[in-house]
Amino acid sequence: MDDEEDYYKILGVSRDATQDEIKRAYRRLALQYHPDRNKDPKAEEIFKKINEAYAVLSDPEKRAAYDKYGKAGFSQRFSKEDIFKDFDIESIFRQFGFDISDNLFDDFFGFSRSSAKRGRDIVYDLYLDISDIINQSKKVIKVKHFVRCSRCNGSGAEPGSVAEVCPKCNGRGRIVSRRSGIFGMIETVTICDMCNGSGRVYKNKCVLCKGKGKLLKEEDIEIEIPLDVRDGDMLRLSNQGDYDTGGAGDLILRVHLKQNENLHIEGNDVYMKINIPYTKAILGSTLKIETPYGIKEISIPKGSQQNDEILIKGYGLKNRYGHSGDLHIILNIDIPKRPSRAELELIKKIDEEFYSKKD
Ligand SMILES: [Zn+2]
Ligand SMILES: [Zn+2]
Repeated sequence: MDDEEDYYKILGVSRDATQDEIKRAYRRLALQYHPDRNKDPKAEEIFKKINEAYAVLSDPEKRAAYDKYGKAGFSQRFSKEDIFKDFDIESIFRQFGFDISDNLFDDFFGFSRSSAKRGRDIVYDLYLDISDIINQSKKVIKVKHFVRCSRCNGSGAEPGSVAEVCPKCNGRGRIVSRRSGIFGMIETVTICDMCNGSGRVYKNKCVLCKGKGKLLKEEDIEIEIPLDVRDGDMLRLSNQGDYDTGGAGDLILRVHLKQNENLHIEGNDVYMKINIPYTKAILGSTLKIETPYGIKEISIPKGSQQNDEILIKGYGLKNRYGHSGDLHIILNIDIPKRPSRAELELIKKIDEEFYSKKD
């Protein structure tokens, strides 16, 4: 890794620095290299790097990915847009007690941040079998979402056509409208609908996307099922939602773990109800049963009762550290509704035997 590019080194903090230490280091450097205050021509470049480092290290999720994959691996997973997506530098500076000029960050990071519109997040209901989790099987789901137009690369312009400043918003990408309310003037800022926030228009619109810069497309997305995913969890896949000029939204998977009256899951423990004949409950037996881990032989003790539990340790679900829960087998004793004549004769004998003992 190039030392100069290491985010920790840029901020001058150790790899195990606390959020507080990172924030303090950032504050000091950001004020030192702020282009409004530092007129050194190199200051702007350094200031950008400081902000990039802080945008990553101040976000626990991004920091963890950076620690795990290193700079190169991180850059493959997160674009510059991703890094600054939730990074509100204006409000950070206001917290520090410094106002920054309005236009400073227009195109500062190489893309228009404030005016471009981020795509929608998409929620997808993901139904999983317990075996999907146990086997950590990969799933391929079909998601219909907006993607960047491949012909115009998102610009909306037919290749070769020349950009002009949007006449509606004068290139600002935003339209400010004022109207008077009860307590004074109310200002509303909306994204320009003529240029879709880009500030540029083209004479010839892209013929594939009709100038929208995006296309609705159904795509296969491969998902790795985490070991510790449970019913009701939300899994977030960055940038797999709808694409728009300000970057793609996320794809949020809402997990539904399939359960039924004979199978339910509590934490890492699996509860399975099985039917056994009443004779086996009385006499005891060994049975082969189908568990989420395959066929397993279990022994039913003599004199087993309704809802008795047989515990198979380590046959539950694993948590993220690889520790397994248990499989609880709950006995449901099957009493025949229509016993055969021969069966009835035998039971009558047992019944007589039982009552004669009581006398
Ligand atoms: Zn296009
Ligand atoms: Zn416009």
